[in-house]
Amino acid sequence: MAVPKRKTSPSRRGMRRAHDALSIASFQECPNCGELKRPHNMCLQCGHYNGREIVAVEG
Ligand SMILES: [Zn+2]
Repeated sequence: MAVPKRKTSPSRRGMRRAHDALSIASFQECPNCGELKRPHNMCLQCGHYNGREIVAVEG
């Protein structure tokens, strides 16, 4: 089995983890109801996508 020759130093470990941070999810305003929605996703509030209703929302 391949095994690392040297112990990973705290500096090396930190450099590796420098790219591990999660980014904040992006949101856009729904053109129909104005609620924030994820891009390329149906609006969860009114069920609209691309200017028409995809899913009927009760209430
Ligand atoms: Zn909407």
